[in-house]
Amino acid sequence: MLKYISLLGATGSIGTQTLDIIRMHPDQFTLVSMSVGRNIDLALKQVHEFKPRLLSVQTKEDYDKLIHEVPSSTTVVYGEEGLVQVATDQKATILVNAVLGSVGLAPTLAAIKAGKTIAIANKETLVTAGHIVTSAAKKYQVPLLPVDSEHSAIFQALNGENRQEVEKLILTASGGSFRDRTRAELEGVTVHEALNHPNWSMGAKITIDSATMMNKGLEVIEAHWLFDMPYEKIDVLLHKESIIHSMVEYIDHSVIAQLGTPDMRVPIQYALTYPNRLNSSSRERLNLAEIGKLHFSPLDMERYRCMAFAYEAGRIGGTMPTVLNAANEVAVAYFLENRLSFLDIESTIEQALERHQVTSNPSLDDIIAVDQETRAFIHSLIQ
Ligand code: NDP
Ligand code: MG
Repeated sequence: MLKYISLLGATGSIGTQTLDIIRMHPDQFTLVSMSVGRNIDLALKQVHEFKPRLLSVQTKEDYDKLIHEVPSSTTVVYGEEGLVQVATDQKATILVNAVLGSVGLAPTLAAIKAGKTIAIANKETLVTAGHIVTSAAKKYQVPLLPVDSEHSAIFQALNGENRQEVEKLILTASGGSFRDRTRAELEGVTVHEALNHPNWSMGAKITIDSATMMNKGLEVIEAHWLFDMPYEKIDVLLHKESIIHSMVEYIDHSVIAQLGTPDMRVPIQYALTYPNRLNSSSRERLNLAEIGKLHFSPLDMERYRCMAFAYEAGRIGGTMPTVLNAANEVAVAYFLENRLSFLDIESTIEQALERHQVTSNPSLDDIIAVDQETRAFIHSLIQ
């Protein structure tokens, strides 16, 4: 049966790979609505190819430009309200949320209330408001399917097993662009160097998050919410080849792992086809005989302070993860503009966490307020 997809973040790394899958399997999937940010040129090409009935752009300015250029069958909308319209498109059954940042929260909640299945790549939404998103998904009985490769691996390794029998979730981490450098060697690294990830080709923000290891920290919090696991049962293991995407250890000490080549189209596709799988014979297969060896080592929390911040923020809970996420989003944006040094990403986030008076069990309004307050604090700190 054809699945009808709405896609947030169509022009991004996950968005374009989602469109690859839709393009390869026109008998399985059809795109009904999509959103983009500022990449209007690519958006136009995508609209002409996939002919969605709804397109959302980020700004009114781009809306005015585009409105006469799209086919008459496509309605154009814009702004945060536009994201919600795409996410709740009546015709869609699945929302693929591949937008960047906590701007994905409102459309995710709206889609859950509209009964859509959620394939979620947008981890910032789960970090900033995990309790609200997961309890809404439960209330509306909507599946929340992971796209992030580690979480897809855990989801597959759990395979409906009894959660009481899980000893630990073990998230693997490649170590990012600077995995072979000491902390001292991180002084003065450039944006260009940081963007050079050894295994994965991803958007700029998550590539920097991988270099600081904040990405893995966000993923620990994401795993806590997606799999309802306490933080002491979530471990991180360095594994530089990115072949084992993550593992589950059970109480009998049996460990189940999911393996594959580092190709995001695999977990994206699994979220789209779950509980089934699709033949992907054209895709590169994992050849372990050729790879020969896999490497593992423990994670040094002194070397990767963002990991320590994330565990701490997760354990404190309440509005602390919202601060962690918002401070990180803004600090990374400044780093990408060459206005903050690499190591100052950490110290900036630390300052935001230290000054924050946590609110426990925050409402959606509390979270939005803390998110905005934190962003304003980081702007004032850096400017
Ligand atoms: P990209 O930066 O490549 O793409 C982000 C997308 O979101 C683009 O379409 C961009 O539009 C759009 N966008 C950004 N900001 C806004 C905004 N304020 N309003 C509307 N649209 C906006 O990111 P990725 O694809 O790498 O990552 C997307 C999400 O998936 C992130 O949460 C990331 O952590 C997660 N993820 C990514 C993985 C990867 O391999 N890339 C792996 C696992 C998770 P435009 O470009 O048109 O401006
Ligand atoms: Mg990941």
